[in-house]
Amino acid sequence: MDHVVVVGAGLAGIRSIEALRAHGFAGRITLIGEEPHRPYDRPPLSKAVLLGETDSTVVDSDLDALNVRLLLGTAAKGLGTGVLETTEGELAYDGLVIATGATPIRLRGEGRQHVLRTIDDAIELRARLVSGARVAVIGAGWIGAEVATAAARAGCAVTVVEAGETPLAAALGTTVGAYTTGWYGEAGIELRLGAMVGSVDPDGLTLMSGARIPADVVVTGVGVRPAVEWLKGSAVELDDGVLVDEHLRTSVPGVVAVGDCANWWSRRFGRRLRVEHWDNALGAPDTAAATLLGEDAVYDPVPYFWSEQFGRMVQFAGYREGARLVLRGSPREDRKWAACWLTEDDRLAAVLTVDRPRDLVQGRRLIEAGKRVNATRIVDPAATLRDC
Ligand code: FAD
Repeated sequence: MDHVVVVGAGLAGIRSIEALRAHGFAGRITLIGEEPHRPYDRPPLSKAVLLGETDSTVVDSDLDALNVRLLLGTAAKGLGTGVLETTEGELAYDGLVIATGATPIRLRGEGRQHVLRTIDDAIELRARLVSGARVAVIGAGWIGAEVATAAARAGCAVTVVEAGETPLAAALGTTVGAYTTGWYGEAGIELRLGAMVGSVDPDGLTLMSGARIPADVVVTGVGVRPAVEWLKGSAVELDDGVLVDEHLRTSVPGVVAVGDCANWWSRRFGRRLRVEHWDNALGAPDTAAATLLGEDAVYDPVPYFWSEQFGRMVQFAGYREGARLVLRGSPREDRKWAACWLTEDDRLAAVLTVDRPRDLVQGRRLIEAGKRVNATRIVDPAATLRDC
């Protein structure tokens, strides 16, 4: 293999290049990125960047030492056999890494809606989060909660509009999501649950009910779609992202996929997973690079995610679907608490922690180990999770 092309200059893209070199690949590497920027981290965009603490989140990586040809401001448009079509012409490849991430979903309406995916989005939005501005955030998910946190801190009058019955319902379920409802009121934010947005208008929102929410700034945080439109019509199989096996191989030989756009087969959970988490963009490239170079590597992590909202560190690891919920501590009374999800035979499937980072670390290890836990002890927040 002489030439590897990496499509997508985000975290998964740059980590793929580092992994290729670490695995001994000495051939040519070309990195293609639609944005004009060098690879940067996105988690700080809704935290430190919005809060005005930093303007740059560029990933610490020595592109010169990695000997990469960098094609920024260039988008992939299509894929043929051994040829990538880009906005700047065709590019032949021997190996290809697909790392194009995800694109925010926008809602209907003529009004300006901010989304938060790029550093440019963040800097533009930050300038509008000024004291007294009326800010409507659509979606009480991870991004919506973090944007609301930053807007409230900037002195904005914030309303969060959520279609579900609780915040974070899709990620954590409504029981646990409900425990976060009070965080909004505490921060002086109005939370409207069960409210569907009909349209984004120049002066605010119109809900499906006909009610109006006046706003100077609208931020849409209702989720993302894998950025794989450019692969439609190619031989790469798609279904909620790029379908890859446990080695991160696509349906096309010599083509692998990583990060937010990859939908991989998890041996551990016996199902497909597509995860939009930083840790996945960091970890998957090692397996993808090994696979591309003909090594036998399997990607099978316990997914991990964190969020900083309303002055709290919220962390989650595992996969909770089908598992039963038990609480460690009282979310209504304690500031620090955790939730665990157990399988039928009392193995830890997932853990959520609120300002209990040790529980997260130990819980993640227990999930990885797949050992049975003591379901009676685990509910006692004073018991060390590792020993349960
Ligand atoms: P991306 O980072 O999206 O990079 C993909 C790159 O590919 C982009 O630069 C894109 O422009 C480019 N691209 C797309 N299409 C093309 C094309 N056709 N041709 C060329 N280039 C293309 N995760 C956490 O775990 N914790 C957090 O607290 C957290 N906070 C977040 C906050 C924000 C505001 C955002 C947006 C994400 C956050 N995440 C968080 C998620 C995490 O940042 C993502 O999972 C991670 O960025 C995924 O990396 P990636 O390289 O797969 O995709």
